Amino acid sequence: MRSLQSEIEQRGRRIFELVEEHPEPLFSKAGFYQRLMALSMRDERFKGQLFRFVDVLPSLRSSSEIVEHLEEYFADKRNGFGPFIGAGIRLARIVPWISGRVLRWNVSGMARQFIAGKNPDDVIATLRKRRAQKIGFTVDLLGEAVVSEPEADKYAARYLDLLEGLAHETKNWTDPLGKNSELFPVVNLSVKISALYSQMSPADPADAIAHLAPKLWPLLRRARELGAFVNFDMESYAHKNITLELFKSVFTEAEFKDWPHAGIVIQAYLRDSEADLRDLIEWGRARGTRFAVRLVKGAYWDYETMKSRQNGWDCPVYFQKPESDVNFETLTRLLLENESVVTAAFGSHNVRSIAHAQGLADELGIDRSRFEFQLLYGMAGPIKRALVEMGYRVREYCPVGELLPGMSYLVRRLLENTSNEGFLRAKFAENVSAEELLRDPAKLVKSDGASPPALLVAATVQDRHRKTGASLETAPGDIYQNSPLVNFVYKDSQDKMQSALREVRRRFGEKHPLVIGGEKVWTDNLTPSVNPSEPTEIVGYAAEAGIPEAERAVKAARAAFGKWSRTPFEERARLLERAAEIMERRRYELSAIEVFEVGKPWNEADGDIREAMDFCLFYARQMRCLGRPGLTQRVPGEESYYHYWPRGVALVIAPWNFPIAILCGMASAALVTGNTVIMKPSEQCIICGAMLMQIFEEAGVPPGVLNFLSGHGSVIGAHLVDHKDVDLIAFTGSREVGLKIWESAGITRPGQRQLKHVICEMGGKNAMIVDSDADLDEAIGYSIYSAFGYQGQKCSALSRLILLEENYDRVMERLIPAAASLRVGNPEQPGIMVGPVIDEAAYRRILDYIEVGKSEATLAYQAKEVPPHGYFIPPTIFTGVKPDMRIAREEIFGPVLSVLKVRDLDEALDVANGTDYALTGGFFSRSPANIERVKAQLEAGNVYINRSCTGAIVGRHPFGGFKMSGGGTKAGGEDYLLHFLLPRVVTENITRHGFAPEETPEYRDEFVWPPAR
Ligand SMILES: Cc1cc2nc3c(=O)[nH]c(=O)nc-3n(C[C@H](O)[C@H](O)[C@H](O)COP(=O)(O)OP(=O)(O)OC[C@H]3O[C@@H](n4cnc5c(N)ncnc54)[C@H](O)[C@@H]3O)c2cc1C
Repeated sequence: MRSLQSEIEQRGRRIFELVEEHPEPLFSKAGFYQRLMALSMRDERFKGQLFRFVDVLPSLRSSSEIVEHLEEYFADKRNGFGPFIGAGIRLARIVPWISGRVLRWNVSGMARQFIAGKNPDDVIATLRKRRAQKIGFTVDLLGEAVVSEPEADKYAARYLDLLEGLAHETKNWTDPLGKNSELFPVVNLSVKISALYSQMSPADPADAIAHLAPKLWPLLRRARELGAFVNFDMESYAHKNITLELFKSVFTEAEFKDWPHAGIVIQAYLRDSEADLRDLIEWGRARGTRFAVRLVKGAYWDYETMKSRQNGWDCPVYFQKPESDVNFETLTRLLLENESVVTAAFGSHNVRSIAHAQGLADELGIDRSRFEFQLLYGMAGPIKRALVEMGYRVREYCPVGELLPGMSYLVRRLLENTSNEGFLRAKFAENVSAEELLRDPAKLVKSDGASPPALLVAATVQDRHRKTGASLETAPGDIYQNSPLVNFVYKDSQDKMQSALREVRRRFGEKHPLVIGGEKVWTDNLTPSVNPSEPTEIVGYAAEAGIPEAERAVKAARAAFGKWSRTPFEERARLLERAAEIMERRRYELSAIEVFEVGKPWNEADGDIREAMDFCLFYARQMRCLGRPGLTQRVPGEESYYHYWPRGVALVIAPWNFPIAILCGMASAALVTGNTVIMKPSEQCIICGAMLMQIFEEAGVPPGVLNFLSGHGSVIGAHLVDHKDVDLIAFTGSREVGLKIWESAGITRPGQRQLKHVICEMGGKNAMIVDSDADLDEAIGYSIYSAFGYQGQKCSALSRLILLEENYDRVMERLIPAAASLRVGNPEQPGIMVGPVIDEAAYRRILDYIEVGKSEATLAYQAKEVPPHGYFIPPTIFTGVKPDMRIAREEIFGPVLSVLKVRDLDEALDVANGTDYALTGGFFSRSPANIERVKAQLEAGNVYINRSCTGAIVGRHPFGGFKMSGGGTKAGGEDYLLHFLLPRVVTENITRHGFAPEETPEYRDEFVWPPAR
C-alpha cells in the first residue's frame, strides 16, 4: 500500500496536469487587473495604496473626485509606482471625466471577478453556467457591517427573498453526481451571523443568541420547507464562540433537531479549532442527526494578528502558514473519521490540502460523493474544473451584492490573492514547482516560529526614544508594552467577571477609613457611595475628612518627604510595579466595583484597570530613564550633569469617570518622582479610591508617603489647594474647578516655600468631522461609540458631529437607527453599552441641557425606553445645531450628541476649532490630502483619524489637551513625569593643575545623600 504522502503527490500531480490542460492566468481578467495585481505583488507599498484606493472608489460620486483621489494615492513621485500608473494619472488630469468613468468601470470589473451578481436575478445566470459545468453553489449576501437593527432586519429579509428566488429558479435541478444527493441540497445559503444583529457583544453570548435565534427561525423554517441547506459562515474571532453556541443552540431546538441540512465553518488557522471541532462532533453525536462542517483556513489572518497585538491579547491564529496547513490536515482527518455524523466540505484552493483530503478519504474508504470541495467564485477556475473531471463534488461560494457593501469582501480576496504566503500566488504567479507545492507542511514548520514577528509597536516606541533626550537612549526597558485588556470573548473571563460581581455585591456596605501617615483614621461622618443604576443600593461608605484631617495629612506628607525624596528611584519604581501586580491579581474585583460604583460597562471598567496598571508600569520605566543624571555637554575639564528633584507635597484631585486610572495615574507619577502625596478621589467614587489606597499599602508604600482623604472638594480640596505646604497640584476634572485651582495656586501664601505647580486637565467639547468620502460603516459605528460609550461621560467623548452637506442625509439615515439600537441598561449585565449617569445632580443637569437643546435646535432622536430606576438618560441627538448655540459650546458630559451641517471641509474645521476647548477631535476620510490637512489644523491635544476619539492608551496615545482643556500635559506620555520634578544642573570643575581625566561618563548614578555614618 502506498503511503499517504505518495498518494497525495500522485493526486496533486494529476490535478496539476488537468490544470495545465486549460492554462489560465491567476486572474481571469486580463489587462488592467492583471497588471495591477502583478505590480502589487512586486511592491508592498503600492499594494497598500492600491487596496486603499479600491476601498474608497465606490463611495466617490464625481469623476473629478475619483481623479483627485487617484492623484493623492499615487502621484507622489517618491513612490515610483511605475509608468503604468504615471500614464494613468497624466491621462486623468487631461480628461478627468473619461478617466473617472474608466477607472470606476475597471474597478467594478475587478469586483465583478469576485462577486457573482448584483442581485438574486443577476446571480442566477452565473449559477446556470456553473450547473452546466457540474459545479454547485452556495450563495452569500454581501453587506457586512450592520450598524443598527433595521439594517439587520433588512438583511434577514433579503436572505429570505434570496432563498425563495433560488429555490424557485432551481426547482428542477438535480444533483451533479446523482449519488448521496440527500446530503447535498441544490440550494445552499451561506449566512453571516454578525449581519443579523447589530449589538453583538462577545461578553454576552446569551443576549446575542436571544436576538439571533428568532431572526434565523423564519429563514431556517423556509429553508427546510424548500429543501435547502443553510451554512453559518465564520467571521472574526470575536464572534466565533457566539456563532458556535448559536449553531448548537438553534439546532438542538425540537423544531430543528432532526434537520440534517445545517452547516458551520471551522477555521483551521485558529489554535483552538481542533477543540471546537471535537466539541461540535460530540454535540452532533448527542443530537443524533447529521450536520455539516466547511473546513477553511480562515480569511481574517491579518485582522486577527493586528487586533490581538493592539489589545495585548494572545493571538488566536497560528503565526506560520504551514502550521495552518498542518492543522487543516489534522482537522480533515477528524472530519473524515467522524463521517457518520458530520458531512465535510473542504474550502480550499490549495492543491496540497485538497489532495490530502482526497487521499485520506480513500484510505478511510469514504466514497467521493459523500463530501465536497468548495472554492470561491472568481478564483482557481482550473482547479474547480480539474476536480469535476476527477469525479468530485464541487461547490462554488458565490457572493451577491452591490460593490459598496462588497468592498471588504473584495479587499479580503485581493489580500489573499497577492499574499506572499498564499498557494494561488505561488502556483499561478510564481510558478513554484509541483514538488514544492505538494510537500508535507509539517516539514515546513520552523521550530523558532512560535512567537509573533518582531513587535512593531515596541519598535516605534524605541525609535521615538532614540530621537529624544540622550538619557533615554541607554535606559533599561526602553520598550514599553501595554498590559493586555481582558478578552471577554472567553467564557472563563465572563465567568470570572460574573463571580466578581456577585462577590462585590456581597460586600456592599463595607466601610473604609481615611489613611493618614500610615494610620487608619475614622471620623464622625461616613459618606455613602450609591449605585447609580439602583440608587437604593449603597456600595459602601468612606470616612469623610474635614479640615483637621486635611491638616494632619499635609503634616504627614511633609514629614515623609525628606526620606522618600531620597529613596532611590529604583525602589520607587518597584513600588509602582508591585501595585500593578496587585491590580492584576484583583482585576475582576476592581472592575466589578467600578460597574457598581460609577456605572461602567464591563469592558470600560476593565479598560480603566488596565490603564491604571499601565500608568504604574509606564511611569516606573520612565523614571528609570529620567532618574540617572545625564551629561549636558562633553567638554574637557568640566562635568555638568542634568537631573531632577521632586517638588514636595503633591495634592492629587481626581474625577469619577476613570475612578481608578486617573487617580492612580496622577498619584503614581507623583510617587515615583519622589513626591509625597495626598490623594483625594471624587466624592462619587470613594470606594474605588479606598481600593487604590489598599493596593498601595499592600505594595508597601511607607507611612505618610501616600495619604488618602475622602471628602468634599469644596471643603478639603479648596483648603489644600490654598495650603502653604502643598507644592504641587495634579488635578483632572471640570473647567470650573480647574480654573479656580489655577488661579488660587498663583497666590503666594505666608510661609510658602516655593511656587506651586499645577497640572490641570479639564473638559472638552470634542468634534468629529465626516468627510464626503468617509467609510460610513466605520464613521457611524465609531461616532456612536465615541458619543454614547459610557454614557458620554468621558472628557474625550464626541459631542459635536460635523457633517459635510454632501454626506448629511446619508449619515443621518443610518446614525439615528444606530443610536436607537443601542443597549441601554444596568451595566451589571454584560454587553450593555449605555448605563446610568453618575448621580442625580448630573442627571438633572443633563436633562436641563436637553431642554436647552429642544429650545435651540431640533430633537432628532431620543430613546424612549430606559430602565425605570437609576439615573438613566436616553441617548439623545440634536440636529440643526449652530456653532453659537449653548449645546454646541458647553460641555454636557452625558449621552447627548449635537449634529452640525457644514458646506465643506474649510467650514468644518472652523466649526471644530471654534470652541474654548482643545481636547480630542476626529476625522473620517479616505482622502490622503484631507487627512494631512486635518492632522495639521485640527485644534485638539489628541487627534484621531478614522477611529473613535476615546480610548487613549498609555504610552501609545499620551492624553491631554490645551486651550480650556488643560495646561498642555500629556498623561501617559514620555514627558509627563517632568511636571512633577524640578530640574537641576550640577557642575564640577574636574581639572587639577591643568590635568583632567580623559573620559567623562555620559551618565552617572543618582546624586544621593551619603549614607549616615
Ligand atoms: C468556499 C469557501 C468558503 C469560505 N468561507 C469562509 C468563512 O466562512 N470564514 C473564513 O474565515 N474564511 C472562509 N473562507 C476563506 C478562506 O479562509 C480562505 O479562502 C482560505 O483561507 C485560503 O486558504 P487556501 O487553503 O485556499 O490557501 P492557502 O494559500 O493554502 O492558505 C492561505 C491561508 O493560510 C492562512 N495563513 C496565511 N498566512 C499565515 C501565517 N503567517 N500563519 C498562519 N496562517 C496563515 C490564512 O488562513 C490564509 O487565508 C472560505 C473559503 C472558501 C473556498
